[in-house]
Amino acid sequence: MIIILKKHFIYNIIGCEIIWIGIDDTDSVTGGCTTYLACALIKKLKYENYRVIGYPRLVRLNPNIPWKTRGNGAVSIRIEDGNPKKINRLTEKVIDKYVIFEDKQTNPGFVLLQEQPSFNIYKKSVKEIVTLKEIEELLDSLGATYKGYKNRRGLIGATASTAWSPKYDKTYELITYREGNKWGTKRQVDHKSVKKMNETYRSTFDNYDYENNHNRLAPNSPCPILYGIRGNNVNDLIQASSVVKSEKVESWIIFETNQGTDDHLQRENICEIRPFQSVITEGVVCKTPYTIKGGHVIFKIKDSTGQTDCVAYEPTKQFRDIIRELILGDKVEVYGGIRDKSLTINLEKINIKHLEKKVEKIENPVCPKCGKHMKSKGTGQGYKCKKCGTKSEKPLFKERERDINIGFYEVPVCARRHLSKPLKRMMKP
Ligand code: ATP
Repeated sequence: MIIILKKHFIYNIIGCEIIWIGIDDTDSVTGGCTTYLACALIKKLKYENYRVIGYPRLVRLNPNIPWKTRGNGAVSIRIEDGNPKKINRLTEKVIDKYVIFEDKQTNPGFVLLQEQPSFNIYKKSVKEIVTLKEIEELLDSLGATYKGYKNRRGLIGATASTAWSPKYDKTYELITYREGNKWGTKRQVDHKSVKKMNETYRSTFDNYDYENNHNRLAPNSPCPILYGIRGNNVNDLIQASSVVKSEKVESWIIFETNQGTDDHLQRENICEIRPFQSVITEGVVCKTPYTIKGGHVIFKIKDSTGQTDCVAYEPTKQFRDIIRELILGDKVEVYGGIRDKSLTINLEKINIKHLEKKVEKIENPVCPKCGKHMKSKGTGQGYKCKKCGTKSEKPLFKERERDINIGFYEVPVCARRHLSKPLKRMMKP
């Protein structure tokens, strides 16, 4: 592996010897998976004696775009030099074999590039909406070979995945696949062994949700994936997979990825927040949390530029109990995505920065002259001593301990987004 990476470095300096292959939008709700298709392509390329450089890359893009099938993932592969026409033909063959073209939502695209596109196009694709026109213009300017099928939207993710660079942050995912005759049936992955793996390999993350008894390794879709283990360290992932007991693993592969990096988030003032972005924004609670039908918990924050609603949806389970404890005046930094024009922040985590004192009325004020409790004059109208007429505005308060602390809280593993950086990674020394 070291030799391959060294070569990769040299080729990058020369600048023309690597071919980047990006693929996206090949799966559908009824089956398929872009990572599986990428594996099939890698096998074909290797069979044809091409050398794959480094790890294949699984790149998650804007999690708020409405036309994604599931996790908005795209894949890219680097190979050592080669005949683009031949690679083009191989890629087309694999796509024709594995894609379910009948699905309305499936709009595949692949790109072959001899130059890595600017990191900026990745940044835009993970944080904002990108148009097909700007992607096609970019591809033409780079002299790329590319093909988009149906509405050709897959070209966006295919290009963005080649533009991603792991230079700021990265993680890995070891993905295992099922035997073909098992696709669509219930997955057999032993929970106990997943918990053991989780407790043994601390560099892995998002494995098991203990509070909700949810095995996060195995997806729910009818795709060929059996399970995926995410982590910071490749060697740990390989060892960790040997601990997981499951039905037969047909094959496995390790992807370098942007999962768990928070790459989708950008810091914004409240007035700057736009639909389909994911933001980090700070504010003071100005409307107390309340629960609406369906169990979703909503509150409002304000900064000097405006106000916005924040919501902890029902699937975020116990996280809502933390949110319900917020009171007026608490200062928070919220992390989350915006789906549409309502500009509500869908919470992924929260950093509580200041807790306001919580006080509760214990009794009516005592008259300083008579030593007796005063009587209320009616709601909001203060108090008066029945005997001597002395008035007072306020009752006696007692400070109550808060049930939450300053610091970070995150949604449980079962509700975690692919791109969200787990606190476990944030707090890493
Ligand atoms: P996966 O299941 O592989 O995790 P997905 O199935 O949820 O991902 P896709 O089927 O790939 O998602 O659909 C997402 C579509 O949105 C693709 O066509 C992709 O090119 C496009 N896309 C991705 N990011 C953006 C963006 N920022 N702006 C516009 N379109 C995007």
